[in-house]
Amino acid sequence: MTEVAAPPLRTPAISFEFFPPKTEDMERNLWDTINRLAPLSPTFVSVTYGAGGSTRERTHSTIARILKETALLPAAHLTCVGAACGEIDEIVDRYHEVGVRHIVALRGDPPNGIGTPYFTHPDGYQSSPELVAGIKKRHPDIEISVSAYPEKHPESPNFDVDIDTLKAKVDAGATRAITQVFFDNDLYFRYLDRVRARGIEIPIVPGIMPMHNFKQARNFVTRAGTTVPDWFAAKFEGLDDDPETRKLVAATVAAGQVQKLAKHGVDTFHFYTMNRADLVFAISHLLGIRPNGAKKAA
Ligand code: FAD
Repeated sequence: MTEVAAPPLRTPAISFEFFPPKTEDMERNLWDTINRLAPLSPTFVSVTYGAGGSTRERTHSTIARILKETALLPAAHLTCVGAACGEIDEIVDRYHEVGVRHIVALRGDPPNGIGTPYFTHPDGYQSSPELVAGIKKRHPDIEISVSAYPEKHPESPNFDVDIDTLKAKVDAGATRAITQVFFDNDLYFRYLDRVRARGIEIPIVPGIMPMHNFKQARNFVTRAGTTVPDWFAAKFEGLDDDPETRKLVAATVAAGQVQKLAKHGVDTFHFYTMNRADLVFAISHLLGIRPNGAKKAA
């Protein structure tokens, strides 16, 4: 099993993922979160793109505000779903114009929802490698991150096909992959073995999700193909009506996961923040990360 050999004394690099807010209240909450987490000096912060392009404008305005009001480096998520190449190219050009230099390029979920057959827009990018190549061709200075699936993507018939897609994305110009959320670190290390055996050398950054609301998050991640092990679920048993304890347990469990990964040499983490700062701030602290670059070895 590939464990990254280096000792974990270096303070890890982190990045944060947000989703674009729907209401003014959610927007205020997001900005409280951004302001709380920004002093932790993330490498970048990314903003998701709603299924089927549903948040196109909100993703753009969130990214534009991050660029205008903070020193953070934003990465815009973008999918191929429901749009012609020309429309996607325009979105990318607009991002480039306002100063965005990092895109998380994805195929996206099937237009009629997870579990239904995927179909492409007739004039659209037909796959994520095509999207990566399209962005790189227009703007070679845009850095591209892509997805990776330690449990393979649910639509993939097997790991070989899945990793072939990752390879195609790398060959098209992607330089970082961020994983789907996982709870069993062994799955990540086994996946890393497969990826490295295929000759893929880019960083495969673990995507970590603190489970603020276990019941809700469990449904969400299970639909996306993540296994929730029984031992993991057992930690939240009986806490459905006890948000305070649930929060402490969620922080402890996620902190344990990242500390174990760090112990085995993983030095970069991407946090699915769900637009909440508290748990991610605490976990980062446990990794030795201090506000404003005052870093301490974990
Ligand atoms: P790809 O990497 O292109 O493919 C994933 C796997 O599916 C590959 O193994 C490939 O072989 C297989 N596959 C692809 N197409 C087919 C097909 N037609 N038939 C059979 N197998 C196929 N979704 C959003 O809507 N917005 C976001 O902002 C967003 N951000 C994400 C960020 C990260 C880090 C991750 C991990 C996922 C994110 N997603 C997002 C979810 C993602 O869009 C879905 O998982 C989607 O189903 C696959 O997109 P992809 O780019 O990961 O797929």
